[in-house]
Amino acid sequence: MGALPDNDEVTPALCAELADRFGTPLYVYDGGTLVRSLAELTGALHPAMEVFYSLKANPNISVLSLLAAHGARAEVSSLVELRTALAAGVDPADIIFLGPGKTAYELAACLDAGVHAVVAESFEELAELDELAARAGRPVRVLVRVNPAETAPGSRLAMGGKPRQFGIDEDQVLAAGDLPGRHPHLLFAGVHGYLGTRILDHTTAVANTAQVLDLAERVAAATGIGLDTVDVGGGLGVAYFDKETDLDLAALREGIHAVVEPFHRRHPGTRLLWEAGRFLAARAGIYLTRVRYVKRSHGQRFAVTDGGTHHHMAAVGIGSFVKRNFPVRALSRPDAPATGLWQLTGPLCTPNDLIAKDVALPDLAPGDLVGILRSGAYGPSASPVLFLSHGHPAEVLVHDGTAYLVRSRDEPADLLRQQHLHDFSATGSTPADSLQRSTR
Ligand SMILES: *Cc1c(COP(=O)(O)O)cnc(C)c1O
Repeated sequence: MGALPDNDEVTPALCAELADRFGTPLYVYDGGTLVRSLAELTGALHPAMEVFYSLKANPNISVLSLLAAHGARAEVSSLVELRTALAAGVDPADIIFLGPGKTAYELAACLDAGVHAVVAESFEELAELDELAARAGRPVRVLVRVNPAETAPGSRLAMGGKPRQFGIDEDQVLAAGDLPGRHPHLLFAGVHGYLGTRILDHTTAVANTAQVLDLAERVAAATGIGLDTVDVGGGLGVAYFDKETDLDLAALREGIHAVVEPFHRRHPGTRLLWEAGRFLAARAGIYLTRVRYVKRSHGQRFAVTDGGTHHHMAAVGIGSFVKRNFPVRALSRPDAPATGLWQLTGPLCTPNDLIAKDVALPDLAPGDLVGILRSGAYGPSASPVLFLSHGHPAEVLVHDGTAYLVRSRDEPADLLRQQHLHDFSATGSTPADSLQRSTR
């Protein structure tokens, strides 16, 4: 029995071992797949480009550590993500911090750490950063995130080209005049653009790249913002659902090379940044659950598992009103043919806790392991893990023959620690008393 699709080391047999050893529900990450995804991406980009891993997709510190060991830099958007990157050993010169609502504390932490750049998302933020830099007595490097006037279609969720809280509108940046003159404590290093996510069509990715490079040159000419660093965004997807196909990396490579090479020749000293979260992490992850009960309701077959959408919100449905299923495998019966359609559900008290709907699987029985594949990105960190107070699942990273526990599951004590019990029994009132009082 071989490895699962996408996975280098994680097999159904290994999943059974890991489930016994670490319990379920469990996220399992295949280290070889993380490293291979990074290599695939690097190979599809221009050699002058650097890959910045977006921690948002999977903030596990050891996932980052493995990717960083193989050359990934870090793109962070919160204080804890920044601390994660620093603790994982990422060079501050290879960290950028972005996000539309950074706190003063986060901005100060960026200054302290000496990150490569803060990506500024509004004129107001530029003013605040300038003041911070003045007080700190040292300049801060900024990239100005630009929301372009319009963008090419083809991403599942457009992040620019329309009214957005992200970045500064292109026309406003172009009309802003001498930004460096007005903010003497900032180093205006360049421009950032991130136009969309879940892109599976290489022509969209290439068009977005060409657009941001062109924008950077126009902005530089109009405003005095430099071209030391240009971040062209990214947003590459992986195929999750029927009728989706993975990116054509050879075609991507050709297209990217054609638009980046002339820019690189004009500006050989410019750092060219590419951001990737989902593309690096998604294929490496399996959400491993165990069937608790098998039942029938109104003619449909249900497998109630110990894992649910509180750990995997994306399985409820992303960006569409029609429920589509992530790839699902009956790991305890890897060679058995599908015999029927199943509703795969979890422990939550809501009908939305449907991991997969009408999914063709072999006969399932209590104790069987079921794996949701391609689940390494936007898993627990993008899910309501506290729903019904279940908490975060454990995470295991398999690499070079070793399974590392890279996150413990939340225990009841962990979840109760943050709550503060006020004992109201001393007031001596019973519900009946207070009811009487309030109706008197
Ligand atoms: C979410 C986000 C990313 C990561 O997107 P993926 O589609 O997961 O690669 C990168 N950059 C910005 C600005 C983002 O908001």
